[in-house]
Amino acid sequence: MHIIVIGAGLAGLTVAIALVKAGHQVEILESAPEITYIGAGIQVSSNSSRILRKLGVDKYIEKYCTEPVDLRMMRWKNGQILVEVPLKEPAENDYKSPYWHIHRADLHRGLLQAAIDFGCKFHLDSRVISIDPDSGSVLTKGDVTYSADLIVASDGLNSMAREVVLGKPGPPVPTGQMAYRVTLPAATLRGIPELEEIITVPRNNHWLGPHGTILSYLLEGQDEPLINFVFTCDVNETDLPPGVDQRMGTAKEVRNSFKGWDPRIETMLGFVKKSLLYTHEPLTSWSHPSYRLVLIGDAAHAMTPYLAQGAAIGIEDAAILGGILSDPRYSCPQTLPAALRLYERLRISRANRVAEASVTSRWFTQMEDGPKQRERDEWLLLHPGIEEGHINIRSDKVWLDELFGYDAYQVLEEALGELPN
Ligand SMILES: Cc1cc2nc3c(=O)[nH]c(=O)nc-3n(C[C@H](O)[C@H](O)[C@H](O)COP(=O)(O)OP(=O)(O)OC[C@H]3O[C@@H](n4cnc5c(N)ncnc54)[C@H](O)[C@@H]3O)c2cc1C
Repeated sequence: MHIIVIGAGLAGLTVAIALVKAGHQVEILESAPEITYIGAGIQVSSNSSRILRKLGVDKYIEKYCTEPVDLRMMRWKNGQILVEVPLKEPAENDYKSPYWHIHRADLHRGLLQAAIDFGCKFHLDSRVISIDPDSGSVLTKGDVTYSADLIVASDGLNSMAREVVLGKPGPPVPTGQMAYRVTLPAATLRGIPELEEIITVPRNNHWLGPHGTILSYLLEGQDEPLINFVFTCDVNETDLPPGVDQRMGTAKEVRNSFKGWDPRIETMLGFVKKSLLYTHEPLTSWSHPSYRLVLIGDAAHAMTPYLAQGAAIGIEDAAILGGILSDPRYSCPQTLPAALRLYERLRISRANRVAEASVTSRWFTQMEDGPKQRERDEWLLLHPGIEEGHINIRSDKVWLDELFGYDAYQVLEEALGELPN
């Protein structure tokens, strides 16, 4: 089939690779005039690294990946360690695929190069301004029309395709929180004894505090090791114009928002980028009734970042959609209704469940100081590591098996195996 992918983000590039490898002809329309490599670090958990490896993207990115040993959760005020949850060991032994930290630019560049090498065609500076799902055509800025058997919309949080699928506006909904992102060469923090461990041991450091969290982890970087920080807190500004969710921030703003936190944090501030955090209402359908337009990634399920799963779930969507459309029973225009119904059946409940768990994680990690927080901390101190029924979902074996143990290819095999030939 001829397939148009709208948007060359992490989900769009992954689905383009999966579809081109399935034998389809893929054209990607991207609004940006050039692909710029901005952004900070990203966590790639086993459920998504498994897919990147299967698609052969690992060869493009592996040298930029760091494997954190564990997730260390600490008290906001003094850095007291509350719980340590292993990451590397279960990724290797239980989930059979690594947990990576990588700079988004390196992941994006690797996906882009893989998409080019596998034969996808790109049109940059091609913002899609309207979609006619019944005829399978899109109109881009500059009045160029493209037609295809299927349009896969991975146009992100502010998706215009979402509105076409829903038949009504489906705008982003503010979460009331924002994130400041800071990435620095790790060497800039060298020589400060209290930070030595943070810049040398690859782990996920997570400070839990009232109305906010701080996360730090190491990245391999292109030329030198980097340290990445994500400061999440309640929104302290609402002055961004509609549709704009990012702008540069300052160290002073972060300092003001995190007054009184672990004194080590003060030392870590540098170049700051801030994003307002949005989700949108969960959708009950991801495809248009014509079955020629389908959503994936943040366009379908923009979620809060508290579990670091937004891109991972988009990568899972890509594997499932690509896998269904590689099955001879589903790979032609006539079988698109059945193919997209199966895609929705396999994906919507999974994405909604992870999105809900991410919100639960927000409240668990951002408690006000008081009896509930003390009870939580006492429990965490008594229950290190991973166990069934742990009150911290990041330590709950049952949840981790469901989240990181998700094998998109096995899910596909089972679903396709159940169907009559
Ligand atoms: C602070 C923060 C931390 C996060 N950390 C993690 C993490 O550690 N792990 C994780 O898995 N996820 C994480 N996420 C979530 C993750 O960043 C997103 O889920 C992911 O980037 C979404 O990818 P996407 O391809 O769906 O959308 P996007 O990356 O938004 O890509 C959309 C693309 O479509 C293009 N586009 C938009 N409109 C049009 C149009 N009309 N025509 C043509 N092109 C268009 C855009 O230019 C863009 O290139 C985090 C998010 C935040 C905010």
